[in-house]
Amino acid sequence: MLAVASAEGPRAAQALYDAWYARASEAERRAAESVIDHNAAEITCPACGTTFATGPSECPDCGLGLL
Ligand SMILES: [Zn+2]
Repeated sequence: MLAVASAEGPRAAQALYDAWYARASEAERRAAESVIDHNAAEITCPACGTTFATGPSECPDCGLGLL
């Protein structure tokens, strides 16, 4: 847990993200930047890369929740 003055919240959040990003793998960075479009015909799971038809709220391959 991290406590900061509310005015510093956005800066603290960015610093935490930057620190995580610096250590993240290429796949983790790609997943963090992916956006799931539930109106698209297909979804590509950001965790495992499986592409499947829109509908299920979890990836049918790895079970990642997608809501
Ligand atoms: Zn998956």
